[in-house]
Amino acid sequence: MRPSMPPTSAEFTRSVILDYIRASGSISRVELARMSGLTQAAISTIVRRIIADGLVVESGYSESTGGKRRTLLELNASARFAVGVSLEYRRLTFVVTDLSGHLVGRLSTDGPRETSPRQVMENIAERIEPLLAYLQVDPELVVGIGIAIPGPLDSSLGIVQGRLPTSAWTGLRLKDMLEAVAGRPVVVDNDASCAALGEYWTNRHAAYEKTVTATVYMAGGIGCGILTEGRIFHGVSSNAGEIGHIILDVNGPPCPCGSRGCVGLYASPDAVVTKAGRDPDLVKHLGLTLEADEVQGDFRRLVRAAARGHGSSHQLIANAASYLGAAVTTLANILDLDEVYLSGPGFSDAGALYARVIQDTLDRGAFMRSIHPVQVKMSHIGPEAAALGAAALVLQRHLTPHSVRESARRRPAPASS
Ligand SMILES: [Zn+2]
Repeated sequence: MRPSMPPTSAEFTRSVILDYIRASGSISRVELARMSGLTQAAISTIVRRIIADGLVVESGYSESTGGKRRTLLELNASARFAVGVSLEYRRLTFVVTDLSGHLVGRLSTDGPRETSPRQVMENIAERIEPLLAYLQVDPELVVGIGIAIPGPLDSSLGIVQGRLPTSAWTGLRLKDMLEAVAGRPVVVDNDASCAALGEYWTNRHAAYEKTVTATVYMAGGIGCGILTEGRIFHGVSSNAGEIGHIILDVNGPPCPCGSRGCVGLYASPDAVVTKAGRDPDLVKHLGLTLEADEVQGDFRRLVRAAARGHGSSHQLIANAASYLGAAVTTLANILDLDEVYLSGPGFSDAGALYARVIQDTLDRGAFMRSIHPVQVKMSHIGPEAAALGAAALVLQRHLTPHSVRESARRRPAPASS
């Protein structure tokens, strides 16, 4: 049962009603009144306005249950579009989605590697207009560009705080830079948060439906996107969800973050490939390159072998998954989760194996398991999760601004670079 809306401004009410329509797929005015707690007269007025804005259309009639058939409403999916871009060292992924978050088209190109940030921003901007033309999307209907990057960052200011893709990106005002060259509004968030939002948006959850959800995202590293009531939980500085730095052994090996024995040192693709490199027979059998640039390729060879049942590969991945399971159990215990999604390219070839091991760990050790289960689910949106989520971030800000509240504590920007 969804809670009724608190009384508040007209814009908030309109935003909440749009979110109910988006999440429902199709819904009648009577159901909207029941779900929102508003009168049918108030719903009729709001719906008339959002139909006039072109965001919602009448889409047919409900099945008759004896009484009068009800007119159904749904989002006018082709009324607006968004562009999502996932920026990784080795790969740039572009997606275009419609207003409902569905994929209209995608494009993948080589990653920026050592290219200067300004040149990368210009390359991104130059790719977008031809992609829209190819997909026959009216550029006037595109409400913005979302960028997903590996953290850390300050998403409220669009500033990259980490060293990705290279140290030239540190302190970069990515949002301002891309807005200047692309001439469109830009939003920036980390890849795990974007993946979490993409999952939520395409699963058609309404903002009030889930108190908290978490998505573990594995690409080069391991991160986690946390949503509260459908919006990204940023913490103080947009860097919540660093599950890869949960400490499992205070006397363990040193981690670049400054701690010791972090999960990432045992469970990240980099850690797994490094461990595999100590077994010459395995390196030879799978043709591992062990080159720093090829970690994701080597990791994919390992997980594919593990999925085929190759003994030592299976053992390596299952071992990594058990460390990750320990971290996910900690996460579930802190947030009182009832489900955890696994998302990102790191899970694409052996997701079932990871899911099984993590589920077993949760079933044995999650604190709340006698009250409710914690279910591990594979993301259904595939390896483009971060780019799709970046597009969803743009749509969410456009369609349901009530669900996006900027951090109350906006810190002053560091000196411009
Ligand atoms: Zn660490």
